[in-house]
Amino acid sequence: MTAPAELIVLGPVATLAGGAGPGWAEALAVRGGRVVAAGSRPQVEALAGPGTRRLELAPDEAAIPGLTDAHLHLAAAAMARRAVDLAGVVTIDELIRRVRAFAAAYPDPEPWIEGGGWDADALGRWPTADDLERAAPDRRVAVWAHDHHALLASARALAEAGIDDARSDPGGGVIRRDASGHATGVLHETAAGLVGSLIPPAAETAIGDAIEALTLELVGLGVVAAHDPGGLSPTPGLGGPMGAYRLLAARGRLRVRVHACLRPEQMEAAIARGLRSGSPLGPDPLDRLRLGWLKTFADGSLGSRTAALLEPLDPFPGEPDPPNGGYGVWLTPPAELRAQAARAAAAGIATQVHGIGDAAVRAALDALAPTVGATPLMPRVEHAQLVSFADMPRFAALGVAASVQPVHVRSDAVQARRLWGARAEARGYALAAIAGTGAVVAAGTDAPVEPVDPWPGVACAITRSAPDWAPGTPPFGPQNALDLWASLRAWCVAPAVTAGERDRGRLVPGQRADIVVLPAAALADPVEVGGALWFARPRLVLMDGEVVAGG
Ligand SMILES: [Zn+2]
Repeated sequence: MTAPAELIVLGPVATLAGGAGPGWAEALAVRGGRVVAAGSRPQVEALAGPGTRRLELAPDEAAIPGLTDAHLHLAAAAMARRAVDLAGVVTIDELIRRVRAFAAAYPDPEPWIEGGGWDADALGRWPTADDLERAAPDRRVAVWAHDHHALLASARALAEAGIDDARSDPGGGVIRRDASGHATGVLHETAAGLVGSLIPPAAETAIGDAIEALTLELVGLGVVAAHDPGGLSPTPGLGGPMGAYRLLAARGRLRVRVHACLRPEQMEAAIARGLRSGSPLGPDPLDRLRLGWLKTFADGSLGSRTAALLEPLDPFPGEPDPPNGGYGVWLTPPAELRAQAARAAAAGIATQVHGIGDAAVRAALDALAPTVGATPLMPRVEHAQLVSFADMPRFAALGVAASVQPVHVRSDAVQARRLWGARAEARGYALAAIAGTGAVVAAGTDAPVEPVDPWPGVACAITRSAPDWAPGTPPFGPQNALDLWASLRAWCVAPAVTAGERDRGRLVPGQRADIVVLPAAALADPVEVGGALWFARPRLVLMDGEVVAGG
C-alpha cells in the first residue's frame, strides 16, 4: 500500500501531456513534491488519505505547469531596477529630465550613474554626451540602449576611458563621431567595453538582494524557472552574478530554478573548477541552481543595424549608411564560434549562440552542430529572428533548439518591416515554421530588453500583433502564429527540454509539481489581441507542491 497523496488539486488541469494540445485532466495528486497521478476525480480522490491537503479550483479557474523563461537576463534585469530607466523615452528633454532626477536622488559619492532603455529611433536622433552634461554635469554616466548594443557615456566617462578624437575604433566596435570627428558619446558593440570596463562591479550581496526581489515578482507571475544568459559586468572568474547566485542558493533564498550561463571570458575558470552544464554550482539546499550554457554572440541586433545578414538591409529614405554595407557585424567570427563551442563541449559545457540575422543563425547552426549530444543540455540558437528557409529544418535535423522571444514581434515589427523588407514577414520570427519541422522551440522574454512579465509574449506568439499597435496594423507574418497550446508548451515544456530536465514542464506522474492556477478566461481560445491571456495573473503558484505565491 503506497502512502496517500500529500495534496490533491481538483479542477481542470492542462497537463501538457503528449506532443500537442492541453492534455486536460480533472485532477492531480502530489506526493513528495511530484505529481503522482493526473486523471479523473475518482482516480485522484482514491489516492487521498486523512492528512491530504485539498486545493479545489474555483469554477472559473484552471491550472497549467509553471513557466520557464528561457532567456531572461535575470541578474541584469534585477540590477536594472536599481538604475536610471530610460525605456519609453521619446524626447531628448525627457531623457535629460530622468537622468537629472536620478542624479539628484543618488548624489556623489555614488560613483557611476548606470541605466538604460533609450532608443535612438524613438528619440529621433542619437543622444549625446552633451545631453548628459545638461542632466548630470561632470558625473560619470553610462546608459545602455534598449537592445544593449550601444552605450551612451558622459564626457567624464569618455575622458577616463581615454576616448578622444585620436582614439581609433576597437575591433568589433564603433565609436560614434560627429562630422568633425569628435566622439559623440555613443559607443557601439565592443567599444562600449572601453567605458564599461571602468565601472566597478556591484557587490555579490547587492546583486543577490536584487535577484531575490525580482524572483519574488517572477514567481507571482507564474515563472518558476529562468535561464540567465548572463550579461551583468561579466568578469574573468566566477564572481559577480555567478557569485551572487551561489550565495543565494547556499542560503536557500533562490526563489526560482536558475540555469546560469557563462560568458566566454569566464569559461576557463569554469573548466578549471570542473563545472559542467546541468551540474550544481555549490551547496544548494533547495536544489535550484545549475550551470547553464556558454553564451556567446555571433552578431549584433536589428535596431543597431548590426544583425549579420545574407543579403544587406533594405535601403530607405533618410537612413544613414549602415555598418558594413548593411550586412551587419560579426561580434564573434564564425571560425571562432566553432572553436568556442568545441572547446566548451569537450569540457561538458553546452553552448548557446546569440544569432539575430540569417547569416548569424546559419553560422550558429554550423558551430553548434558538432557539439550536439556532448552534454545533457541542448545547444541553442538565441533569438533566431531571421532564418533562411534553407536553415529552418536544420534545427530539428541537427538537434539544436531555437530560443525565441515572441514579444519582440510587438516591439520589432515596425523596424523589421522597414529594415528587412519583404523577408521580414516571410521568414522573420518564424516560430510556427521552425516548430513545424519538429524543432524544440523555447520561449523567453529577453528582459531587461523587454519587461519580465511573460504573458504578453505567451499571447504575442499566437496573435502576432499587439494591443498597443496603431489601429488597423495587420498581424506580423500571421502564418507563423502558434496555437494557444503550442505557445504554452514553448513556455512550460520546451525550456526544460533544452536544459535536459526530464522531471519538469508537464503535470504528469514523475514531474515536479510546479503548478500555476489561472483565471480560465486566460486560456480561452481563440486568443484575442489584448485579451485575458495578455494580462494573465495567477491566483496561486506552487513549486514542488508548496504554495509560493498567492493563496
Ligand atoms: Zn538577451
